[in-house]
Amino acid sequence: MNYNIAVIKGDGIGPEIVSEAMLVLEKIGEKFGHTFKFQEVLAGGCSIDANGIPLTDETIEICKNADSVLLGAVGGPKWDNVPSAKRPEKALLGLRAALGLFANIRPAMMYKALADACPIKKEIIGDGFDIVVCRELTGDVYFGNHYRKESDCGWGEMGCDDMNYSVYEVERIARRAFEMARVRSKKVTSVDKANVLETSRVWRETVTRIAAEYPDVELQHMYVDNAAMQLVHSPGQFDVLLTGNLFGDILSDEASMITGSIGMLPSASIGETGRGMYEPIHGSAPDIAGKGIANPIATILSCAMMLRYSFGLSAEADAIEQAVGKALDNGCRTADIASPGQTALSTSEMGQVIRDLI
Ligand code: ATP
Ligand code: MG
Repeated sequence: MNYNIAVIKGDGIGPEIVSEAMLVLEKIGEKFGHTFKFQEVLAGGCSIDANGIPLTDETIEICKNADSVLLGAVGGPKWDNVPSAKRPEKALLGLRAALGLFANIRPAMMYKALADACPIKKEIIGDGFDIVVCRELTGDVYFGNHYRKESDCGWGEMGCDDMNYSVYEVERIARRAFEMARVRSKKVTSVDKANVLETSRVWRETVTRIAAEYPDVELQHMYVDNAAMQLVHSPGQFDVLLTGNLFGDILSDEASMITGSIGMLPSASIGETGRGMYEPIHGSAPDIAGKGIANPIATILSCAMMLRYSFGLSAEADAIEQAVGKALDNGCRTADIASPGQTALSTSEMGQVIRDLI
């Protein structure tokens, strides 16, 4: 088959890590008989430099017409003084909205070979940590009205952010979570603050109703404060964590830190269609940009997610994930995951090792 992929290398380490990921896709293409056609477009800081804005209509059009989007990372200190409406990160929000990407899927999996980097005691983490956060991405307080007004009681100006969730928004993300749980350990933990928030009561009622469509999946409700605690207290109880936009933002960072390695974790943003946007969870790492030492694994694993979720190519995705696992088992490390004194591979050396293992 032929697949068209829009590629946004972005800023900082983006170009270095995405180049390795593209070579991995080419390798998969050779092995399994697919053709991946890449169309490179600008977004973020590099688009501000070239076009004066972080996201152009042309980039949006090309991404909409592609089968999927591969993204490195955007932003960096170079654009710190750009007015907030034009900041590089606005490119991400714009793309998510334009492509209708309402679900953010973040697997947080600890590799046995990297278990020493896990900040949680061995007795607690036990056999490992392998969960997926399924976070709603286009609703919640992030997309409500943000405004200021004078307080009624003479306490001066106040900031206000409206928090909204509609039944429809909760239904579609809940279905994604239950479907994901079906092919995993068949357990969904839905996170809310239903003892306080009306949005959370709509959330809980709706998730409970949708759960009836998936009788084979166990559903547990948990308040967000408890979930934050339980993630470090007994992380083994979780499989799929279903969250709104705000709570998911916080909990997915917490979950990823349990794995101990920011350079390792992929993510997918998906919507109603097969098209998705795939990117590492880390940022553009300006402090190490251009040095050739960034870890390309998060971006390479994001390609595996693309193959699985957007193209339905499970064997191909498995081949990438297994090659990454083997590279780690063989002791291959980039600087961010190397133990003190261990020789570190460069970005391109790590990419090559993974391709050879494929
Ligand atoms: P953003 O706001 O875009 O998420 P951030 O401020 O959270 O960015 P990152 O760019 O993710 O920060 O970088 C955080 C730290 O992790 C930096 O020290 C960076 O060098 C390191 N880091 C991030 N990604 C990688 C990677 N792929 N390989 C090695 N180190 C990385
Ligand atoms: Mg960050």
